[in-house]
Amino acid sequence: MRMPCKYSGASCSSLFPPELVDQTIDHLHGDKATLKACSLVSRQWLNSTRHHLFRSTVIVGDSRHGFTGFLQFLATRPNIGLHIQELRLQGEVNLSSGRPQICKHEMDDLFTRMPKLQKLDLFGVRFGGCDGRCCGRPYCPKPRDFDQVTVVGGSDTDDFADTLDILRLFGDVLHFYVYEITWRTSDMPNLGVFGRRLQELGPPSQLQAHALAIGHSYTPCSSLFCEIMRFTKSVNTLTAIGAECAGWDHIEATGELMRDIGPSLLHFHLDVALTLMGDELPTDNQLRWRLLRLNTCPNLKSISVLLLLDDQPLIEESSEEERLYTCTNILDILSTVQDSTSMRNVTIKFAFEAEEEPPSQVLEDSMDWARLEEVLNGFANLETVKMVFTDGADVLEECTPLLLEKMHTFDERGLLAIKVLNDENLPISARV
Ligand SMILES: [Zn+2]
Repeated sequence: MRMPCKYSGASCSSLFPPELVDQTIDHLHGDKATLKACSLVSRQWLNSTRHHLFRSTVIVGDSRHGFTGFLQFLATRPNIGLHIQELRLQGEVNLSSGRPQICKHEMDDLFTRMPKLQKLDLFGVRFGGCDGRCCGRPYCPKPRDFDQVTVVGGSDTDDFADTLDILRLFGDVLHFYVYEITWRTSDMPNLGVFGRRLQELGPPSQLQAHALAIGHSYTPCSSLFCEIMRFTKSVNTLTAIGAECAGWDHIEATGELMRDIGPSLLHFHLDVALTLMGDELPTDNQLRWRLLRLNTCPNLKSISVLLLLDDQPLIEESSEEERLYTCTNILDILSTVQDSTSMRNVTIKFAFEAEEEPPSQVLEDSMDWARLEEVLNGFANLETVKMVFTDGADVLEECTPLLLEKMHTFDERGLLAIKVLNDENLPISARV
């Protein structure tokens, strides 16, 4: 007798209910090789696997063609874009005009073809403006909302107007991490000229970020980007800022933005290691940190600061003032809000660059423990003091006995937490 051939060929997949196929394929979500094999089984399996294969997509561009190939691919296969929820456009990490570029029209096209896109990572991409193909093409940006946008982008030949046009594409962004953004500033000799250009072109006022990370670049753009943000709706929506400031102009610009945000700001993280490096010992230290204008944020609930400690001051013959220099500056920052009743959480992140001394020795000698206690005691409603080690569990273990000894009053009150750095602490989040 001839057996019916129902266990072979294309009819096989139709034996399984679609929910079962979906569940099985869901289990394979991290296994791209198996997903690819499954996608060849049948049309039904193809749709289910595509959801996982394209959900998070990385496209590497090159300086000659940018991302044109990817755009053409999406145009000819419109179903693919529907699955993409996370997209990373990747180019050159180092700032150069060799970064692949994308124009405002291309970016707008991408957003239209990916209606479910929630997370966008522009990593080493230029905003170099349009080429001949865009000639006469209208630009009517429809701002898109995102869960997260990360930017390491631009170049020092990119036009400011093109950079602004890219920023006009973003609407409500929960996490806006601008680690680097660069454009040509040689035609903007001072803040006055920049301000006039910004008003002439029109700021990207529609942008409303909720948590903002501002990294530094060795150009005036980091400070100028803070200035741009002051003219967006973000001043009404930002609750968290993380700033890595490499110079006093950036610190001042961050302060102006914080003043405009004022009562809405709840969380602030600051890394001024690059500013303090090579800094002269000033006489008016406490005064100069008022530039950050922390005192204009009356509802600040948590503050986190990074201390980069090295053993140079211990090796050389140095005065106590020099030895405690980093710590003094950090405490001076905290002391600008010392009478805050809103402050609940203070986090101090320790990073070590010690060559000869063990981290615990460097920590013991570089900290003004008595003043740290005094400054922290100024916060009447403090709930946690978190000490975070960025160099891993070994350093934490080595330094813990010292911290328990020096911070015993906070430990006894149940306020002290000692942790290693993890994803929870970085980057700054609107969900803190
Ligand atoms: Zn264009």
